[in-house]
Amino acid sequence: MNLIILGPPGAGKGTQAKRLEQKYGLVQLSTGDMLRSEVASGSELGRQAKEVMDAGRLMPDDIMIRIIGERIEQAQREANGFILDGFPRTTAQAEALDAFLAERGLEVEHAIELRVDDEALVDRISGRFTCAKCGEGYHDRHKPTAKEGVCDVCGSTEFVRRADDNPDTVRARLKAYHEQTAPILPHYEKAGKLRVVDGMASIDEVARQIESVIGRS
Ligand code: AMP
Repeated sequence: MNLIILGPPGAGKGTQAKRLEQKYGLVQLSTGDMLRSEVASGSELGRQAKEVMDAGRLMPDDIMIRIIGERIEQAQREANGFILDGFPRTTAQAEALDAFLAERGLEVEHAIELRVDDEALVDRISGRFTCAKCGEGYHDRHKPTAKEGVCDVCGSTEFVRRADDNPDTVRARLKAYHEQTAPILPHYEKAGKLRVVDGMASIDEVARQIESVIGRS
């Protein structure tokens, strides 16, 4: 099973993709995570990505298409399928993905849209943080750690916050979403693959709705 998870920044794509990954043996392919590891490695691509991400803009399509292509091929060899998280983000990326998959006899079964209010997103994003060791996601108000300063999952005391999770960059990222990414939703609707889920519900409820729309509940 191959899935795409769509929605604005802060909609909960990464959280839900991680759950699907564990439950169905899929691989989460997050282009944002791939770029963040390039930034951490100090590569030339990472330097370019840092500038673009800090400004809340999108990376060039050709670079993103090349990066994701390599990872899809790897996921096909090693897992039951993939969940694209953060890709495609433009019409050109959606079309390139269709062609790439068709050439390999692959397809995406469901494009899941997490629908949320813009107002709620700024609040959600500005409070989020992640365990530096295991990657578990938390939120200052909506999902704090059970014991302050200690990861519930692995016990680590180190946490990280994304550099682009500040109100100014969030607004730019939301603008990029509405102008460049939301126009791809009709592409999946026409193909009969768009499944809309209420991203304002609790994490468990969103997960339940996703399982229902992909026919796995
Ligand atoms: P994310 O973690 O998905 O919110 O992505 C963080 C940032 O990485 C975005 O704001 C973009 O600057 C960049 N990025 C991630 N995926 C893509 C993509 N498919 N196309 C262009 N830029 C991307």
